[in-house]
Amino acid sequence: MLRPFENEERRQFRETCRRFAETELQPFANEWDEAGEIPWEMHEKVGALGVWGFGVDEKYGGLGMDDVFMRAAWGEEAARAHNGGTLAALGGRSISIGPIHKLASQDIKDRILKDIVLGKKGSSLGITEPGGGSDVANMQTTARQDGNHWVINGAKTFITGGMTADHYVIGARTGGEGLNGISLFLVDADAEGFSRTALDKKMGWWASDQASLYFDEVRVPAENMLGEEGRGFIQIMHNFNHERLGMVAQSLGMMRVLLEYAIDYAQQRETFGKPLIRHQVIRHKIAEMSARVDRLDAWLNQICWLADQGEMPVAQICKAKFSATKDLEYCASEAMQILGGAGYLRGNPVERFYREVKVMAIGGGSEEIMRDLAVRQMGL
Ligand SMILES: Cc1cc2nc3c(=O)[nH]c(=O)nc-3n(C[C@H](O)[C@H](O)[C@H](O)COP(=O)(O)OP(=O)(O)OC[C@H]3O[C@@H](n4cnc5c(N)ncnc54)[C@H](O)[C@@H]3O)c2cc1C
Repeated sequence: MLRPFENEERRQFRETCRRFAETELQPFANEWDEAGEIPWEMHEKVGALGVWGFGVDEKYGGLGMDDVFMRAAWGEEAARAHNGGTLAALGGRSISIGPIHKLASQDIKDRILKDIVLGKKGSSLGITEPGGGSDVANMQTTARQDGNHWVINGAKTFITGGMTADHYVIGARTGGEGLNGISLFLVDADAEGFSRTALDKKMGWWASDQASLYFDEVRVPAENMLGEEGRGFIQIMHNFNHERLGMVAQSLGMMRVLLEYAIDYAQQRETFGKPLIRHQVIRHKIAEMSARVDRLDAWLNQICWLADQGEMPVAQICKAKFSATKDLEYCASEAMQILGGAGYLRGNPVERFYREVKVMAIGGGSEEIMRDLAVRQMGL
């Protein structure tokens, strides 16, 4: 595909990400999946690449610049890890860095941000609760003011990186019902009254941990409120844009891997006296997968260009996210058909991505919620 907005810096960054994913992550795709974790040193290696430093000042380990094309390039190329769980384990922190950088006090940033951005410490974003994740405005975790502290009670669940995080950005209700009653807080993992348990036996993302978090009269200093009281919902929604863009990019990368893997297999495998790739039905599957890759690639380029102009195209991002995960689901299914029984065996990216499709379609805003939000953005 053409990359009309590519420049030398972006091309080199993409190549670095690709090489890193292929050499440092891909060889361990099966091992880490079966182990249910990745070695911590990988966090530091990825931190050194700079992928968590976009939009973050250099003094906090950031790049001192932002580039939405490069953010997307990491998402796409990282899929060459052949393991979405690896990327979730590494990237759980990425959705909490924005709120900490933008909203935390100077003292908090000086204390924790550099280590998070460089992958030395972990952090997570906790929004989803046992009572629901889609209806963010209805969250039930509370924070009440007590002198110069806030006291937090409630629970979060499905929190990626939650078992290994040192710090959490969480949403809690400080006011009345609805979206204006929510504020964001920073909670450290060693806070008294805080505990966590692992979510086990997942369909996919085995290499990453997801946790339930419990807050039982957890006291945090007043300065741990991130941003203004009652503005948490808006801040969460703002934060979602980059998360969703990243998931679109990662879906595209996963679709490419599925296409390449299926083509390779179809060239090797013979049925009825000729390579699979010479059968028209298989050729049409490849054509359709390839067209969906090209379509999403072009769309992602356009979205990145709009975002690069300073305008976050929220409706486009929502539409791209549900389209991307539908196309990813299609490509995973068709690649699996092309591999036949071989695809059904554990330990190849087609089988793994097939299991990981659904978390892409549910996490970070489900397909249903993305459709709803897109239509609302159309003023309807
Ligand atoms: C592996 C994994 C990792 C995750 N990591 C994190 C994390 O790091 N941090 C975090 O905060 N959350 C995380 N989540 C949670 C995720 O964001 C939620 O699962 C998601 O937002 C959906 O919330 P829910 O599961 O509670 O479903 P619900 O909100 O209960 O919805 C159930 C179903 O109903 C649909 N639905 C809901 N409302 C409507 C409506 N109005 N119209 C039509 N359909 C509707 C939804 O789309 C969904 O399909 C993770 C989830 C998973 C599975």
